[in-house]
Amino acid sequence: MKIILLGPPGAGKGTQAKFISEEYSIPHISTGDIFRKNISEKTPLGVEAKKYLDNGQLVPDEVTINIVKDRLGKDDCKEGFLLDGFPRTVNQAEALDLFLNNKGQKIDTALLIDVPKELILERMTGRRVCPSCGASYHVKFNPTKVEGKCDVCHSDVIQRKDDTESTVKDRLDVYDEQTQPLIGYYKKQKALSIVDGTGEINEVFQRVKESLKSICK
Ligand code: ADP
Ligand code: AMP
Repeated sequence: MKIILLGPPGAGKGTQAKFISEEYSIPHISTGDIFRKNISEKTPLGVEAKKYLDNGQLVPDEVTINIVKDRLGKDDCKEGFLLDGFPRTVNQAEALDLFLNNKGQKIDTALLIDVPKELILERMTGRRVCPSCGASYHVKFNPTKVEGKCDVCHSDVIQRKDDTESTVKDRLDVYDEQTQPLIGYYKKQKALSIVDGTGEINEVFQRVKESLKSICK
């Protein structure tokens, strides 16, 4: 199974990706997570990427495409993968198509998690993440059992620097300008499926499974 998750920041891609990856035993590849790991480890890539993440801008295509190609070349991606947050530009989508095409492969579907704009701001500003294990929560919709503490590893959860209201607005503008055109791109390829991303997390996952059932047999 080769799946791309599409949708605006805050749509629930990472949340659903965790379930999809477990259900179908495919690696969850989040470019955002890769960048954040490099930033916390202060690698040269992290130092470069930080400038963009802090301002809600996209890391340049060339850098991002190379990271993904490298990751998809690993053994665990042989049977499939789930891309979360990539591609984010038409240029990235074309590079991915070419990369897979050269191996006689293609994606099974680009699954759009469809959430209206008015819900996004609340989802993103209420997001809390664990800096140690990467678990993600929401202060209202998916709270930690003990306030402020990660359920998995008990570290203090934090708000991502780019989840503050002003950066969220910039990220949504970036999405509209650079990422939304991918909906048309995959529609044209007849590879687009759309899932209603409103309602409870588990409800959305049931819809995701239903949608994947008909596509990826
Ligand atoms: P993305 O990866 O698309 O940026 P996330 O999966 O991190 O989005 O979700 C953004 C925030 O919204 C998180 O705090 C998450 O807990 C919350 N969330 C995810 N899905 C839902 C849902 N169906 N209803 C309410 N909140 C949700
Ligand atoms: P995410 O965790 O998916 O919300 O991504 C967080 C940030 O990482 C984005 O705002 C970008 O700065 C950067 N990023 C993640 N994926 C990409 C991508 N495919 N292309 C460029 N930048 C990306």
